[in-house]
Amino acid sequence: MGAMRGRFAPSPTGVLHLGNLRTALVAWMSVAAQNGEWLVRMEDLDPFTSSRLHEQQQLRDLAAMGLVPDGPVVRQSERFELHRHAVAELDGRGLVYQCFCTRREIREASSAPHGDPMPDGAYPGTCRRLSAADRSRMASDGRPAALRLRAHGERVAVADRVAGVVEGMVDDVVLVRNDGVPAYNLAVVVDDHLQGVTEVVRGDDLLSSTPRQVHLQQLLGYATPAYAHVPLVVGEDGQRLTKRHGAITMAELADRGVDAAGVLTMLGASLGLCRVDEQVTAAELADRFSFDHLPRSAWIWSDTMV
Ligand code: GLU
Repeated sequence: MGAMRGRFAPSPTGVLHLGNLRTALVAWMSVAAQNGEWLVRMEDLDPFTSSRLHEQQQLRDLAAMGLVPDGPVVRQSERFELHRHAVAELDGRGLVYQCFCTRREIREASSAPHGDPMPDGAYPGTCRRLSAADRSRMASDGRPAALRLRAHGERVAVADRVAGVVEGMVDDVVLVRNDGVPAYNLAVVVDDHLQGVTEVVRGDDLLSSTPRQVHLQQLLGYATPAYAHVPLVVGEDGQRLTKRHGAITMAELADRGVDAAGVLTMLGASLGLCRVDEQVTAAELADRFSFDHLPRSAWIWSDTMV
């Protein structure tokens, strides 16, 4: 048996907000409570929105709360070869096909009535049945091709530590985008496997993607990690946190006089692990942590609380 290993995998496309920080804290506490190792992986697949400045700022904000990775920070953008290797393996088994559809075509085809209920954003399979002649015509028209998994409507059940058993249908998920960049669902599966991650803690907005990812793990012969999807932080309007919700980053909270220790207390209190006026360290919170007591609904944030 290898070490217990968890991770936090932010996209360095902006400053971490309270929702990201709270998820990172839960991931870190779970690892600390199991004496495991905690990694940070930068999911910088998109070269246009990711930046090194955001990356450094995110690491500083995590460190200010006492969340420091036990190993080098890995960037997905430096691992494309590894991702492509996994796609080649699936391709060798006839499980990959080229898809020339635009987003608009997919949207239109998915809204047409079809038999089976499909997961969110599921691909209706338009390019599955293209002939070799169709494919070369599309390619010579200059249409770039994405690569998709040839799924067979498999249903996959995942046991989540927070959400319980979640079942979903696997669609023809994108493996490589039409700009040649590995797609999120593929990259996350390959990297978690190669990094020896045994526990994935992340926001529950990704719960519906988990059956797809578990299916990819099974096809590639990888072990499935334990999953825990943490309820999001939302504003009083019930929407995900954005700038319009006021002070939601460490810097903005610092401007209101809430330092990193104060943010830790606030997050700990939102998880039922400390009082709102208690000085705590992340390690002290970890001693009190258990998934059994993790709140099952979103935390509603209002910056009038600070
Ligand atoms: N990079 C994703 C995000 O920022 C998280 C992916 C994951 O944890 O699997 O939301």
